[in-house]
Amino acid sequence: MPTSSAAAKKASRPAARATGRPAPELIFGDLWEFDPAPETADPKLKPRYDLFINGKFVAPKSGKYFDSINPATERKLAEIALAGPAEVDAACKAAKTAFEKVWGPMPGRERAKYLFRIARLLQDRAREFAVAETLDGGKPIKESRDFDVPMAAAHFFYHAGWADKLDYVAPGRRVAPLGVVAQVIPWNFPLLMLAWKIAPALAMGNTVVLKPAETTSITCLKLAEILQDADLPPGVVNFVTGAGEVGAALVNHPIPAKVAFTGSTEVGKVIMRALAGSDKKMTMELGGKAANIIFDDAPLDQAVEGIVNGIFFNQGHVCCAGSRLLVQESVADRVLAKLKTRIRTLRVGDPLDKNTDIGAINSREQLDKITTLVAAGVKEGAELFQSSCKLPAKGFYFRPTVFSGVSMSHRIAREEIFGPVLSILTFRTLEEAVEKANNTCYGLSAGVWTDKGSRILKMSTELKAGVVWANTYNKFDPVSPFGGYKESGFGREGGRQGLLDYCQLA
Ligand code: NAP
Ligand code: MG
Repeated sequence: MPTSSAAAKKASRPAARATGRPAPELIFGDLWEFDPAPETADPKLKPRYDLFINGKFVAPKSGKYFDSINPATERKLAEIALAGPAEVDAACKAAKTAFEKVWGPMPGRERAKYLFRIARLLQDRAREFAVAETLDGGKPIKESRDFDVPMAAAHFFYHAGWADKLDYVAPGRRVAPLGVVAQVIPWNFPLLMLAWKIAPALAMGNTVVLKPAETTSITCLKLAEILQDADLPPGVVNFVTGAGEVGAALVNHPIPAKVAFTGSTEVGKVIMRALAGSDKKMTMELGGKAANIIFDDAPLDQAVEGIVNGIFFNQGHVCCAGSRLLVQESVADRVLAKLKTRIRTLRVGDPLDKNTDIGAINSREQLDKITTLVAAGVKEGAELFQSSCKLPAKGFYFRPTVFSGVSMSHRIAREEIFGPVLSILTFRTLEEAVEKANNTCYGLSAGVWTDKGSRILKMSTELKAGVVWANTYNKFDPVSPFGGYKESGFGREGGRQGLLDYCQLA
């Protein structure tokens, strides 16, 4: 519902229908105010969350807890236990016993039942989890409700379906689990990354010790409640919470046979250096600097929607965010004008409000990083455009931002910003587009917008990216493997390929 002031503004516009004159141009920037529409489901948060080890919530021996805050308000949500080396060790030992005595020997058809149960219990509590995810991480409720939680459940369903069909993962070969897997995940998709990690590992017969990111541990610990309700045998999944030191203790612990890491390229390299020479298997899902490439024959309005979805979705906290826009010179001005118009209509604010398009930046640290890189863009001479929307007084927010006149040497064209900031570069020929798109140390994803199928096929073979979307962006499915080239890492998550990364072949 428009508020009365917005309604009054609308009423003051020329009455097109009444006079028979052509409808006036819609005046953007004159955004209708909506009444607040906050999601009201109870997130059922506890004031304090302990570690989840061997099927039970246990307090840390040190007695230390840290706060998880709501980045939209900067208010404390809950206290989270800080794991020490003793708890990491206990979790790894519990996982080893569970692997040897229960989960490893269990037939796949029995493991499948647990995974189906977890998926269904998560669906039952979907609203509650969506609100908890939004409160803890800052993402808009429409994303956690319509994307993160259903997609997490879908990953459990999909892998439940595989658990009794493992003979078909590598036809002609026999597959066997690896043992205990150490998993470390980031803060941008806390529940979804957790599902991407634990569902294939469990389907294959491995057991897990996982560390969520320090700023977003709540849905992980809520999922532990579901694991208890599903009667998952103790020790099959263990959660240790804390910051980077806990992750380091986990990946360097002698028990895990594999480390599955999702996070920054910088930390990925630290882990790879530490594990070099060990016999641990690794998969690394690291950073990205994706190019969204628009040719002059693309449906431009559709492409603009795709660009907006590609970079402003989840505040740009997306490893595969289309943070570079490569647009063919002949349509560059039109695309920029359309983008500016569209950006003016994006609503930034309370993540719990169902109308919000862009929620809160996950932490002050991340907000500072975005601010620094945007300042560097201005200093290096790129042209800045930001929407003029109002931002809440408290909390971490950043306006949707577009830089035009960017060149490949600018920091904003090279470094991962991980925020709602788009850098626009232009190109003339297909070859130049490929050259610019591939001119990065990353290679996670790319997008191509064109009317020509042949051009899509050519681009998708020439782009050095693990995923290439055509005439769409940021589309996911558990069936479809996801992963990078170059410094975006190695290994795949999802699909048959993802399962292969959790087994040994005989
Ligand atoms: P990050 O700083 O690398 O942290 C990732 C995880 O590693 C966190 O749980 C972190 O703990 C932990 N960690 C930090 N230092 C560690 C160490 N020395 N040993 C072991 N673990 C350690 O990344 P982030 O800032 O959370 O996440 C953003 C990054 O993730 C971006 O670069 C993004 O592109 C990438 N990402 C990639 C994918 C993909 O699929 N390729 C998907 C999502 C995100 P704390 O943060 O709790 O301290
Ligand atoms: Mg938080």
